[in-house]
Amino acid sequence: MVNALPFLIGALLLILGLYLLFRRFSLSFEAKYKAGLDQLSRLLKEQTEEAVSEGRRLALILNSMTEGVVALDNSLHITLVNSRFCSLFGVDYSAENSFRGASFLEFTGSAELEAAARQVLSEGQPAQTIIRRYVSGTEQHYQVFAAPLKTGASGESQGAVVVLGDISRLMKLELIRKDFAANVSHELRTPIQIVKGFTENILDSSLDDKEQTRRFMEIIRKNINTMENLTTDLLTLVSLEDESAARPAMEETLLAPLIAEAVGMAEIAARKKDISIECSCPPDLSAKLYGPLFIQALINLLDNGIKYSDPLSQVRISAARKENELIIEVSDNGIGIPAEAMGRLFERFYRVDRSRSRSEGGTGLGLAIVRHIAMLHRGTAEVESHAGEGSVFRLKLPC
Ligand code: ADP
Repeated sequence: MVNALPFLIGALLLILGLYLLFRRFSLSFEAKYKAGLDQLSRLLKEQTEEAVSEGRRLALILNSMTEGVVALDNSLHITLVNSRFCSLFGVDYSAENSFRGASFLEFTGSAELEAAARQVLSEGQPAQTIIRRYVSGTEQHYQVFAAPLKTGASGESQGAVVVLGDISRLMKLELIRKDFAANVSHELRTPIQIVKGFTENILDSSLDDKEQTRRFMEIIRKNINTMENLTTDLLTLVSLEDESAARPAMEETLLAPLIAEAVGMAEIAARKKDISIECSCPPDLSAKLYGPLFIQALINLLDNGIKYSDPLSQVRISAARKENELIIEVSDNGIGIPAEAMGRLFERFYRVDRSRSRSEGGTGLGLAIVRHIAMLHRGTAEVESHAGEGSVFRLKLPC
C-alpha cells in the first residue's frame, strides 16, 4: 500500500496533466476554428435558403406556363408535375406532392401519351405527336413534345420530360378554314361547269339558231351572276371578319332614311313577284350605327323575305326602341323554316333547300353577313319561324 502511493500520485498527476493539455488544445482549436465553423454554417444556411427559393422560383415558372409539364423517371413514374398538367387531367394541383412516384399511365389514363414517353426513353430522341381526348363530351386536341432527360458526359438517361399544349382552338379554326375552302370551291364549281358546258354547246351548234343561242346565253349570264354574288358576299364577309379593317366610325343616324334606302334596293326583286313591302318606323328614331353596313343587313333580310315568299304576298319591316335596345324586325308569310334547321341558319353556306336557294341566286352567305353586322354593333340576330307559316328575323342592337 505504502509502495502504491507514489504510483497513484504519479498516475493522478499524469491524468491532470493530460486533462490540462487537452483542455488547452481544445480551447485553442475552438478559438482557431470557431470563426471558420461559423462561416461554414452561415454558408450552408445561405445555400439552403437559395436552393429553397430557387425551387420556389422554378415551381412559380412551371406553374405560370400555359402548357402542362411533367417529368418522369426511367420507369415512367412522375417526379415533377406543374399545375396546368394537373388541370388538363382534371386533378387538383394542391395535392401535388402525392403525385410523386405515381404511374404516368394511371395519372393521365392516356395510352397514347404513355407510348410517346416510352418511345422517347427507348430511342433517347425527342418526339412530338398530337393526341385527342374527350373532355366533358367534347373533343380536345393536344400537341405533345417529349424529350429524354440526360445527365453527365455519358448522357445517362434520367427519364423524360413531356410538355402538353392545348391546341383545340387552333384545330377548330383549321377545320373551319378547310370547310370554308371546300365550300367555296364547291359553290364555284357548279356555275363554272354550267358556263363551260353551255359555251361548248354554243360553239358546237349552228349559230343560225338564234333562239337557242339566246337561251344558252341567258343560262350563262345567270350563272355568271351567281358567281358574282358569291364573290361579292365572300369579300363582304372577309372584310367584316377583319378586325383590323379600317371602317368609318359609327354615327348617330335617323333610321327611317336608312330603312327607305334598303327598301328601295329590295323593291326591284319585290316588283318581279308582285310582293309589297310595308314599313313602320318612327321618323325621329335614331341610333349610333355603321350606316352602310346596317343597310346591307336590311337588304339581305328583305331579299330573303322576298325570295322565300309566294308572289303577291307581303314583307314587313319595322323598327322601334325598347328600353335600351333598338329592335328591327323583317317578317314574311313565306315558306318558313323547319324547326331542325333553326340552329344552323346563320352558319355560312347553310341552306334549308339548296336547289331553291340556288335557283333564286342565293349564296348561302346572306344571314352569316347579317349576324356579323349585328355583332359589329354589339347586337344579336335572331329568328322565329314555323314551316309553311312564315318567318320573323329580328336584329337587337344596344342603344
Ligand atoms: P341564301 O343565299 O341561300 O338565301 P342565306 O344565308 O340568306 O342564304 O339564308 C340561309 C338559308 O336560310 C336560306 O337558304 C333559306 O333556306 C333560309 N332562309 C333565310 N331567310 C328565309 C326566309 N325569310 N324564309 C324562309 N327561309 C329562309
